[in-house]
Amino acid sequence: MTEARIIDGKAFAADLRGRIGAAVEHLRTAYALVPGLAVVLVGENPASQLYVKNKGEQTREAGMHSVTHRLPADTTQEQLLRLIGQLNADPSIHGILVQLPLPPQIDPAAVLAAIDPDKDVDGFHVVNAGRLAVGLPGLVPCTPLGCLMLLKDVVGDLRGLHAVVVGRSNIVGKPMANLLLQANATVTVAHSHTVDLPEVCRGADILIAAVGRPEMIRGSWIKEGAIVIDVGINRVPARDPAAAAAGKTRVVGDVAFEEAKGIAGAITPVPGGVGPMTIACLLLNTLTAACRSKGISPPD
Ligand code: NDP
Repeated sequence: MTEARIIDGKAFAADLRGRIGAAVEHLRTAYALVPGLAVVLVGENPASQLYVKNKGEQTREAGMHSVTHRLPADTTQEQLLRLIGQLNADPSIHGILVQLPLPPQIDPAAVLAAIDPDKDVDGFHVVNAGRLAVGLPGLVPCTPLGCLMLLKDVVGDLRGLHAVVVGRSNIVGKPMANLLLQANATVTVAHSHTVDLPEVCRGADILIAAVGRPEMIRGSWIKEGAIVIDVGINRVPARDPAAAAAGKTRVVGDVAFEEAKGIAGAITPVPGGVGPMTIACLLLNTLTAACRSKGISPPD
């Protein structure tokens, strides 16, 4: 039995960012258009601060206009909605991202609904979810978009393949299933009520794990040669007991990687698989939104 190909999401994302940078440069010279992304952070959640910093840096590196709004933790919903209204009306901003989670006094659904769907680069607005569901062009959530790009790179044509998506969240599982359907895969969506999940997974040519449970999907659940995309990001205690006792952690996926890599045909590692694709696809969505705002065809 040969070992699985390890899908290098980090390298793929770096290459994608390079292509986005070249497209941004072309827009600037040919159309005097600079794609702009506004990221809004409310409060001081350390993980969110890091994500927002990385998003800002990568946006600038791609040659785009980057604005970060850092608001205090006691910001009211009305204040946040006012800012979103301003960003919706700002012609230099083509993408708006409100970093989640939001503090408890703010209803995330009301905030996401207030973003102009054509600037909704997270793809979470119901209008974009609807567009994806009926096959209209819209803005697609970044993580599943990144997964699809990796899959197409590894497999090429997904037509007729059986894809099992474990997880049905609005931000990963459901849009992933819709993208796979559009690519003509046969799609099964599994969730916490699915009966005999291991057997369902064993039927998959393509297995997408988006569960949020560390290493839940075992090697024995995977069909030989299947392509495994692990979306999960779970923090668990460090391997070394002394380090774990000192509170050190490591990140693992939803798939038991060491078991799976001896059976799968290809697999994404965690970290270094799907994760880096998410920000790269945020930049891609910003580029797409900027192109559409001027009636220019977005890049493929
Ligand atoms: P959610 O918690 O919103 O959804 C988890 C899904 O998994 C639900 O549909 C749930 O089913 C299902 N589920 C939970 N337990 C089981 C079980 N025992 N058996 C079968 N299904 C189960 O998570 P997200 O979709 O937001 O995220 C999933 C994972 O992906 C997380 O680890 C998250 O950190 C990671 N993630 C990674 C990103 C990246 O950039 N790489 C971006 C976004 C998320 P039910 O609906 O029935 O409750």
